[in-house]
Formats: sequence, C-alpha cells, structure tokens
Amino acid sequence: MSKELFVKTGVCTEYERLLKECQNASKIWNEQRAEIYWLRLRGKKVEDELRRLQAQYARAYSMLQKHTHDCALCQLVSSIEGLDSENNSDALSESETCV
Ligand SMILES: [Zn+2]
Repeated sequence: MSKELFVKTGVCTEYERLLKECQNASKIWNEQRAEIYWLRLRGKKVEDELRRLQAQYARAYSMLQKHTHDCALCQLVSSIEGLDSENNSDALSESETCV
C-alpha cells in the first residue's frame, strides 16, 4: 500500500476524505477476509458479509476515481505530478535537440 498510487494529499480536502473512506473500507474488508480465513468460517451469511464489504470498498474506490476526474483541483495536481514523473525527461531531450 503506497500513497504514491494516489494524488498527493493535503491539497483537496474532499479528496482526502474520499481517500480515507476508501482506505478504511479496504482495511475492514481485508481484516474480515483474514478473520474468516483463520477461523475457517463458511456459509451464506459469511459470504454475504464479505460481498457487502467488497461492494463498500468498490464504491468508495469508484467515488475516489470519479472525484479525481471531476475535480479541477485534483486534475491540476495529478497533471503536475505527471509532468514531474514522466514528461520531464522527454521535455528535456526535446529542448536539447532544438538547441
Ligand atoms: Zn479534489
């Protein structure tokens, strides 16, 4: 689990809220899965509960994705980060060949 997968936090408060929700849902889902595995729990009730938690995580995640697509602030941050990590070397070599 790495923060680098996501847009930098501390810029958009709504993004931070959604990110926390997403991480929380993922944590609960994983914990429940581990518990069910170790306790060897089976049955429809267990499966339903897991499916519910998975759906909760999926929803939180898609809301986070949707937000980063729709939010101008998050778009700006991710485009700056994209420039930093990917396009920097290209831009450099291009300007070098021009000069
Ligand atoms: Zn945002």
